[in-house]
Amino acid sequence: MGRLIVISNRVSVPSAAGAAGAQGGLAVALNSALREHGGIWFGWSGQETEEFTGHLDMQRNEGVTTATIDLEAQDVEEYYNGYANRTLWPLFHYRIDLTEYDRNFGEGYERVNERFADSVYPLIADDDLVWVHDYHLLPLGSILRRKGIKNRIGLFLHTPWPPTRLLASLPFHERLVASMLEYDVIGLQTTEWLESFLHYVQKEMGLTVNLDNSIEYQGRRVIARAFPIGIDYAEFSQAAKSEVAKEAHQRLRDSVRGRKILIGVDRLDYSKGLGERFESFSRFLSDHPDMAGKAVLLQIAPPSRGDVESYQQIREDLERKTGHINGAHANVDFVPIRYVNRGYPRAELAGFYRAANVGLVTPLRDGMNLVAKEYVAAQDPEDPGVLILSQFAGAATQLKDALLVNPHSVEHVAETISRALDMPLKERKRRHAALLASVKEMDVLHWLKQYVLALSGVEKGSSALKSD
Ligand code: ADP
Repeated sequence: MGRLIVISNRVSVPSAAGAAGAQGGLAVALNSALREHGGIWFGWSGQETEEFTGHLDMQRNEGVTTATIDLEAQDVEEYYNGYANRTLWPLFHYRIDLTEYDRNFGEGYERVNERFADSVYPLIADDDLVWVHDYHLLPLGSILRRKGIKNRIGLFLHTPWPPTRLLASLPFHERLVASMLEYDVIGLQTTEWLESFLHYVQKEMGLTVNLDNSIEYQGRRVIARAFPIGIDYAEFSQAAKSEVAKEAHQRLRDSVRGRKILIGVDRLDYSKGLGERFESFSRFLSDHPDMAGKAVLLQIAPPSRGDVESYQQIREDLERKTGHINGAHANVDFVPIRYVNRGYPRAELAGFYRAANVGLVTPLRDGMNLVAKEYVAAQDPEDPGVLILSQFAGAATQLKDALLVNPHSVEHVAETISRALDMPLKERKRRHAALLASVKEMDVLHWLKQYVLALSGVEKGSSALKSD
């Protein structure tokens, strides 16, 4: 088979820092696939330019070639801050109250997708597999087709797929979804999102879906399938045993002086349910006076998408809420919520996860949620912590031995926190062993292999990727 051409909004350049564990599992996995197959990772540089030139900045690092383009300020505003993050992201996370329908955003999105296609087109050779990622680039495959690209082209969507009636609120939704049917493979995270997608193409477009979930469209067969993404288990469990992780673990443990630790790690995003989580922890403290001063919630939440108003709003809301809850429950030597707006190297993060008695992963809606899997991978199997997981995260379809909660129900989450903190070692070990088996087996390499097999059109069982 040919090379891989990976296309995503941003590229993650492999570097010595990456090797030391600063990159996320997806970036590490895509980089290793690119190293193995050869190929190019294409995307936006993150830089703005006065006038779009389409100039490709090609670099080769650690055996991987990346190609990036700069975008104009107006592109960034309308495509990235606009259609991607003010329209599609909230809509795909069921937040039509936050969804902005602005014609300029739609035009900017189309324009940038055209610019991506124009720029990547000359890089694609005849038998390359083209793999497009995420909601920023849904129409890209159809534009490449229009330019005459005959290669196999696939899409993987990292977010949820919304119910048909919500999607129908988007102007020109038919055109957007029709453009997606130019892909050969459409990958979603879970069967729930897959079913929503298939419901849309049946009900809104009147298309036939075959028993194997393939879709008949204009004389072609489009494969739609769930490919649940995982973490790089080997890398992350290694990181959790490193000296850096041990030091981080010790530092956190020492700082709480014998108290129980609950941990949350999320980008600061309204989809993550942080406000509800803080309320639930506060309710737990109110309902269990015996626990006063005995449990700490460490919430690590680096800000993201700060140019978008709804993100500024959620940041302010959380600051207010944290102040309020801490004011109500703190003591001279104790603050219940430690709210930290910064990122940490992965090994340090792994140490914090391992030190925590409870992992609180309570998004209101999430395509998958990798933090839940990282928390499981980082635990000591002989004395593991308990994962509390939202039933609305894609990960809940796999991690059934977590304590599944409705994140909107403050009472339910508060009671579940109490149950998690009281859970006997035997039950913690049993649940953790089952969770770990799933995290290990369905890791990012498994995901990659399954997707590339489907994209290359090779039957199940034969090998498009070199075997391990
Ligand atoms: P999303 O893709 O919506 O941000 P995921 O849970 O799927 O949510 O992935 C988040 C990734 O970002 C995880 O790998 C997590 O470890 C990482 N991450 C989140 N917050 C931090 C942080 N403060 N420091 C380092 N990594 C973080």
